[in-house]
Amino acid sequence: MLRIRSWFTDRWHPCRKNTNRGSVILISGSMIAVIITLICIAFISLRYLYSVKRVGDIAVVAAGLAALRSESTEDLAYGEYTLSKPAAIAAFKSSLQENLKLDSSLYPLSNHYITTPVTIEEISVYNPEDITSGLTCSCGTAIRRTSIHVVISYRVRIPGLHGLLGKESRLRIHKDVDNHYSLNIA
Ligand SMILES: [Zn+2]
Repeated sequence: MLRIRSWFTDRWHPCRKNTNRGSVILISGSMIAVIITLICIAFISLRYLYSVKRVGDIAVVAAGLAALRSESTEDLAYGEYTLSKPAAIAAFKSSLQENLKLDSSLYPLSNHYITTPVTIEEISVYNPEDITSGLTCSCGTAIRRTSIHVVISYRVRIPGLHGLLGKESRLRIHKDVDNHYSLNIA
């Protein structure tokens, strides 16, 4: 008489099969839930960084416009004017400080998303006498009228997925602002 070992019957018993399938479904479901959660956190973190970058863009443009204030409103009416370079640079720094909530050394004030001092890497003021045919700023933008070229950088905190994205991200913002500047900050 054929003797069937108990381990063999257990292994192939219908109940055993269902248990295995249930475990696989449970593990797969858990993995999918973890992956979806990670994707959501990554998406939120990237959206946050995009928003922070937009805030930086707007702050730099606003500071650039502040720097472009002409000493003579009469000249401004003609759309071309000469700036005092030290005054324009001081106005830019002061406005940037206010817009990004920085102290006088460009260190972020407390409870702020910016984690390092803001560095003004480049700042150039172009007056009409500086402008020659084919003039470009150091980043390659054509300079055709009185304008201010600025490059700033700083690091910001990343809200989630530190193991994957790191704790901080470095932002570098370049803008050329003139009195014909359109608010296309994309
Ligand atoms: Zn530039």
